[in-house]
Amino acid sequence: MDLGLKGKTAIVAAASKGLGFEIAKALAEEGVKVSICARNESELVKARETIVKATGGEVLAVKCDLTIQEDIKNLVDKTVETHGDVNILVNNSGGPPSGFFTELSLEEWVKAVKLNLMSAVTLTKYVLPYMIKNHWGRIINSTSFSVKQPIEELILSNSIRLAVVGFAKTLANEVGKYNITVNNVCPGYFKTDRVIQLAKSKADKLNTTIENIFKGWESQIPLGRLGNPREYAELIVFLASERASYITGATIQIDGGIIKSSL
Ligand code: NAD
Repeated sequence: MDLGLKGKTAIVAAASKGLGFEIAKALAEEGVKVSICARNESELVKARETIVKATGGEVLAVKCDLTIQEDIKNLVDKTVETHGDVNILVNNSGGPPSGFFTELSLEEWVKAVKLNLMSAVTLTKYVLPYMIKNHWGRIINSTSFSVKQPIEELILSNSIRLAVVGFAKTLANEVGKYNITVNNVCPGYFKTDRVIQLAKSKADKLNTTIENIFKGWESQIPLGRLGNPREYAELIVFLASERASYITGATIQIDGGIIKSSL
């Protein structure tokens, strides 16, 4: 299948490692000119080098804290300066801290709103004019399966990511006339640093091992294993492609079956 992605330009937010990194690499393999960002410059530069070496693609790395509006504007400006345009936006960011409601401060709530909601809103605000001008665009919000089923001890994710879903569905209605699609993707458990960290903090609390925590998760997943970030990236690449031109306003899970509800 020709995905029709060659020569397009994408911003993949929070892509020095984990899901974002795999998405940026998979897009670069399809001939997409990619911009990646993260806060840690040395990790970001290393990620860029790895993607360029693996794909021969054009990759721009811009240091950016996704909780800072000026940094986000700079990321978009630098992308347009370097790649000439921006056609695809993958909204991704670090995860909010785990914890029960009684353990989390109000400051942590505000921080999570900035990181997991406002980063997507702000990036979209700066990128949308280019997509409208081109009468073509793909906005994909990488969220979590927490939007379909609350995850224990992750009240910040369970709450704030649902605002992203409401934002995306409404925006999809507003920008369909410009041939711009807006979708959400909800990962289940994929083996990344973030998930290893979550398993570690759970293991410490329960006085058990990380392996036991993984086994517990795997026992709830019909496919019996955690996902490979590459499997996640391939769904995003499809949604970014010409072939996904009639999918908009959707919230698509990729979770090995862990979500228990039928819809
Ligand atoms: P990760 O920790 O492996 O990678 C996170 C990336 O975000 C890194 O590149 C990091 O540098 C960057 N980042 C963090 N805070 C940032 C900030 N303020 N500004 C710029 N960059 C920042 O995490 P991951 O597993 O790839 O997860 C990515 C997102 O997906 C997270 O929000 C996570 O909660 C969510 N998620 C992941 C899974 C999973 O199974 N991995 C499941 C559900 C949801």
